[in-house]
Amino acid sequence: MKQTRPENRTVPGGERLFHRIYTRLGCRGRPPRFVVEYHPYTDLTHTIRLREDTAYVRLSDVMQHAPTTVVEAAAAILLGRLYRRRPPADIMELYRDFSYAEQTRRRLRALRQLRARRMDHHPAGAHFNLEAMFERLNQSYFDNSLTRPRLGWSKRSWSSQLGCFDPALRQIVMNRQLDRDGVPEYVVAYVLYHEMLHVKHPMRFGRCRRQSHSPEFRKEEKRFVEFDRAMKFLERFPVR
Ligand SMILES: [Zn+2]
Repeated sequence: MKQTRPENRTVPGGERLFHRIYTRLGCRGRPPRFVVEYHPYTDLTHTIRLREDTAYVRLSDVMQHAPTTVVEAAAAILLGRLYRRRPPADIMELYRDFSYAEQTRRRLRALRQLRARRMDHHPAGAHFNLEAMFERLNQSYFDNSLTRPRLGWSKRSWSSQLGCFDPALRQIVMNRQLDRDGVPEYVVAYVLYHEMLHVKHPMRFGRCRRQSHSPEFRKEEKRFVEFDRAMKFLERFPVR
C-alpha cells in the first residue's frame, strides 16, 4: 500500500505552543524559532533537532487526534530533553495516560496497517523454509493451534535482532543472517519458536523491538528441546 502524504504537515499553532512550554519549563535564553510538523511515524515517536536558531520538531501523526494538553506534554518532554529540564510530573502522567489509552493504541495499529508496505515475503530462504518449519513447530509445541502468519526472511541483515513478530501485520520476519551455511537448523527453529510464542501471547503494546518477555514466556521458551544448545550457539552469533 502506498503512503499518503498530505501536502501541508504544519502543526497549527505549533510554534506558539512550543514557545509557551519553553517558558513554562524555565528554559533560559532566547527561544529558538520552532518549525513544528507532523511526521508519518508509525508509533509515538517525536523528535526535535536544533540547527542554529531553529528547532525542527516532528510529532507523530497520532498527535493529530490528541488534545492540546497532550501535545503540550509531548513538547515538554522534547524540550526537557533538549534543555535538560525535567517536565512536571503531572505532565508526564498525562502523556503516559494518553500513550497507554486503548484508543491511542488502536489508532497506532490502524496507521501501521495502512502504511506498512507489504513484506516481500519469501518463506523459502536459501537454506531454510520457514513455512515447513512453522508447521513442524506448530504441531510439536502448539497442537497445531496457531494460525500461520506471513513468514519471511528479512531483505537485509539486521544487526540487533534475530526475528520479529509484528502483531498488527501478523507477520514474522527472520533475520536473513540466520539463513546460511553454518547455522544449525535447531537454531533457526528456536528463533522461529520464540516468535511463535509471541503469536500465541500477543502483547497489547507489542512492537518488534519493544517486546518484553514475562517469566511465563521465558519458562515456555525453555520447552524447546534444544534450547540450551541454541542459546549456546547464539552467544557467539554476530547479532544482538
Ligand atoms: Zn521476543
